[in-house]
Amino acid sequence: MSDKKLKFAFYWAASCGGCEIAVLDINEVILKVAGAADILFWPVAIDTKYKDVEAMPDGHIDVCFFNGAIRNSEQEHLAHLLRKKSKVLVAFGSCAVTGGIPGLANLSNKQGVFDTVYHDNASIENPKGTEPEPSSKVKEGELTIPEFFDTVRTLDQTVDVDYYLPGCPPPTKLILQAVDAIIKGALPPKGSVIAPVKSVCDECRFIRSDKRITSIRRIYEFERVEDKCLLEQGIICMGPATRGGCGGPCMEANMPCTGCGGPTPNSPDQGGKMISALASVLGVEGEEGKDDEEIDTLIDGIVDPVGTFYKYGLPSALINRKVMR
Ligand code: SF4
Ligand code: SF4
Ligand code: SF4
Repeated sequence: MSDKKLKFAFYWAASCGGCEIAVLDINEVILKVAGAADILFWPVAIDTKYKDVEAMPDGHIDVCFFNGAIRNSEQEHLAHLLRKKSKVLVAFGSCAVTGGIPGLANLSNKQGVFDTVYHDNASIENPKGTEPEPSSKVKEGELTIPEFFDTVRTLDQTVDVDYYLPGCPPPTKLILQAVDAIIKGALPPKGSVIAPVKSVCDECRFIRSDKRITSIRRIYEFERVEDKCLLEQGIICMGPATRGGCGGPCMEANMPCTGCGGPTPNSPDQGGKMISALASVLGVEGEEGKDDEEIDTLIDGIVDPVGTFYKYGLPSALINRKVMR
């Protein structure tokens, strides 16, 4: 990067807005950002039109922080547009990096989502069965809205991505590291995940004893032992399969890790790695292996397996959607 003031852009696609709040969570450092960079495009905060971005020369934006998954044609268009106009594109947050919570819609398709939202829903009255149409004729002409896709995609399943900042939302510490590296012109090699290579377990202070468990429980079902590994108390904690960098705030709040940091570097399929870790702690493999009936009973204890093992990353998993017939 040169000594000139940088040019930043922020965009939200299929997103909850939490990643936008996370940008503000850097507190007074936002002043440092404002001193080092002009923000040219930020729909949540600045009234810049898409046509203003379209009019920019290619590569005009130095760094674009893109949060949210891609689930409609407007988000897809903006991903391509911002890729073209930006020297560096950062996938910001789980939704952009691995598909995030919106990616769980890959358990259904467009019609399934519309059925739930516009028809089979106790809070909806829709006697005419109206659904959004991408194009409608009115007397003034044709009105269009974005087309809703069957499948939710990650940002890098849509365009080339330079850096990844995982988390739901990314931890403030990692955002600060990324901003600092950008301002100093010290970014890591293209394709890097701006987070430690360690897992959440490596950062967790809870004590592990390599103990086997006999059943799976949920956190509200018993009184847990303080400061002892939650997984070894029978709670599914995604720590072994999740990239660290957050410092383990969930465990400090008496909750297991649900995996928002995304997969660890050596195991790109986060759910697969967690299932393997769980099999090991349950003792279902090797000499201590259990019979089929015992294994079925254990599996029955896992409520919502996809939502547990792929909560933030179904679109980027090896099997990334349910086949709809
Ligand atoms: S990563 Fe989390 S905080 Fe960010 S937009 Fe997605 S759901 Fe919201
Ligand atoms: S499994 Fe969860 S509670 Fe246990 S050490 Fe890992 S992060 Fe901590
Ligand atoms: S402990 Fe897990 S779920 Fe909680 S912030 Fe860290 S990675 Fe995300």
